Amino acid sequence: MGDTKKEFYERCLEIHDLQEAQQLLDWDQQVVMPRKGAEQRGNQQAALAGVLHAKIADPALGELITSLAAKKDLGPDLAADVREAKRARDRAVKIPAALVSEKAKACSLAQVAWEEAKGKNDFRSFKPHLVKIIDLTRRTAEAIGTETLYDALLDEFEPGMTEAALKTVFSDLRDRLVALFEKIQGGRDKPNQDALKRTYSAPGQEAFGRRIAADMGYDFDAGRLDRSAHPFTSGTFWDVRITTRYDEHFLSASLFGVFHETGHALYEQGLDPKRYRDPAGGSCSLGIHESQSRFWENLIGRSRPFWWHYFPHLKQAFPGILDGIALEDFYRAINVCQPSLIRVEADEVTYNLHIILRFELESALISGKLDAGELPGAWNEKMLSFLGIEPPSDQTGVLQDIHWSAGLIGYFPTYALGNLYAAQFMQTLRKDVPDLDKRLSEGKLSVVKDWLNQKIHRHGRLYLPGELCQTVTGKALAADASMTYLTEKFGEVYGF
Ligand code: ZN
Repeated sequence: MGDTKKEFYERCLEIHDLQEAQQLLDWDQQVVMPRKGAEQRGNQQAALAGVLHAKIADPALGELITSLAAKKDLGPDLAADVREAKRARDRAVKIPAALVSEKAKACSLAQVAWEEAKGKNDFRSFKPHLVKIIDLTRRTAEAIGTETLYDALLDEFEPGMTEAALKTVFSDLRDRLVALFEKIQGGRDKPNQDALKRTYSAPGQEAFGRRIAADMGYDFDAGRLDRSAHPFTSGTFWDVRITTRYDEHFLSASLFGVFHETGHALYEQGLDPKRYRDPAGGSCSLGIHESQSRFWENLIGRSRPFWWHYFPHLKQAFPGILDGIALEDFYRAINVCQPSLIRVEADEVTYNLHIILRFELESALISGKLDAGELPGAWNEKMLSFLGIEPPSDQTGVLQDIHWSAGLIGYFPTYALGNLYAAQFMQTLRKDVPDLDKRLSEGKLSVVKDWLNQKIHRHGRLYLPGELCQTVTGKALAADASMTYLTEKFGEVYGF
């Protein structure tokens, strides 16, 4: 087995390094590249993608995988590596190269069309692009050959998850969230966000954000914080970069953005260094990744114990700005829950409803139950039934997100899965660390990071996401933990 194993890993690490180079080019494009460099960058990315595809699809790698997979007693790490290499290779081999490049071209045209359509509030001009993308996505899914077409799309982002399982969890979550949201709206105490809308200088926000990230355990010697239009995290292990954007008249955008991206970054920095470049050495899935960002952003960052310690520091960081605001006012301000049109601005309660709406629509589009032309109407109907509001325009409705124009169908559910995983992880952390609130109120954030490192980060892709959830929490994924958390928290804030 020695030589087979050695050659298998040699090929895998080369693939890993090329993928890291792709990510770095993408980071550069989003953060520092001059505007005129777009075409050159496109060529570089296309060249790299071609090399990478050839390496993954190489029959010699296929033979190594087959011969290793046939062996018994591989041990858990090698078995996971073979499974993950096989998953990546199966996708690469099953989807015809012509279809991949046709979809890439269609998406780059669609993204331009989407931006224009959004600017002009003109869904009709975007519709033919969407029809094309849905068709190409269906053909891609057919080539992969799972039980439902949507399963093939999900599998890319959340291995092991199925459309049927999502429907069960999400319909339960939807009904319970809609009921909770009604109670919140009828609550007798209504907090407001005024304190967050005073003037907070960008340099002040950056300094405070850096401090929070460092206290969370983010290693700035293995990362950096920059600005970008759309905040994101890029890289892995010893080079994990985060970005944010500053709004001087709304503190939450950058503050909670930094919590969020640092949560993603801690996952990458917390992976097992012995598994660097191995196929199963990376993060488990997008849903688990999102659980890490949401964990810090909401379960820690919007908690009272955290601010018991940090609120005086925040006041110091912005002298005079928070005068007259008590800790309790601030806590309530960061936990306002209200109906809103835009997903990325939604609060903890309504956010998942925005996601479930997209999931139900994508699932209907891919299965053929809904035509692209019926989409704006279906969108508005669901907004009304979930949140009681209707978008005045497609710009603030069906055209708001970039995902579908980028060919990312099956991606949205991972955002809500992240929230559900995060709530289950928190229940387990509380069992393991009964005095968690006390430690948080003393500013001891390392207790959280260490626990996440141990229970989640170090495992990489050893488990599929569903198995990881079961292993860490003792329970399968469900809406219960999230609903208990939200009901208790918002019941107290809104007084019901
Ligand atoms: Zn995220």
